[in-house]
Amino acid sequence: MSFENLGLRAELMRAVSAEGYTCPTPIQNQAVPVILAGRDVLAGAQTGTGKTAAFTLPMLQLLSDRPRRGRAPRALVLTPTRELAAQVGESVATYGSHLPLRSTIVFGGVGINPQKDALRSGVDILIATPGRLLDHAGQGTVDLSAVEILVLDEADRMLDMGFIHDIRKVLKLLPARRQNLLFSATYSNDIKSLADKLLHEPALIEV
Ligand code: AMP
Repeated sequence: MSFENLGLRAELMRAVSAEGYTCPTPIQNQAVPVILAGRDVLAGAQTGTGKTAAFTLPMLQLLSDRPRRGRAPRALVLTPTRELAAQVGESVATYGSHLPLRSTIVFGGVGINPQKDALRSGVDILIATPGRLLDHAGQGTVDLSAVEILVLDEADRMLDMGFIHDIRKVLKLLPARRQNLLFSATYSNDIKSLADKLLHEPALIEV
């Protein structure tokens, strides 16, 4: 399959071409159409498979197709580490460079005030590690009530790092009606029970 068949808008195609990508990877072929169709996804994919673009490209498209109603984030990507948050943030900025969408990254170990300023000025896509996100939620500096798309990236690593309680707390702050995308390199029983709780009739993708 080529990128032309995936149903991505011209602004995203331009960004993909500028990156020098010629063909979608297998996970992109499988995930992009089902995410664009609005379905929940359970995807088994290692780093290096192109998983970041597999969720970022359709997420950007869905958000740009829908009106922004306020300043609160409409997509939330949770990652286990600040390094992964930074990488996903870079991908979002790269693939979204021709779209009028704003993104910001929040993670621990750095000052919270610049993050508060960024959140206050308005953001479509928020990439976050769970602990710092809950700090913001506790201080009232992030409003998660407008989240339409939730991505758990490297969910197995998040569970390994003990983030399940934080994830549960975050889920309580999200609207019930939303699209959920769970990416994990491995399927433990804990991942299966999280997927059962979180996902509604998910498309199953394995690469
Ligand atoms: P990821 O699995 O998301 O960490 O991506 C691994 C690497 O693959 C990144 O450096 C991406 O820039 C690159 N990549 C993603 N999609 C494609 C593609 N369709 N063609 C070539 N490289 C890609």
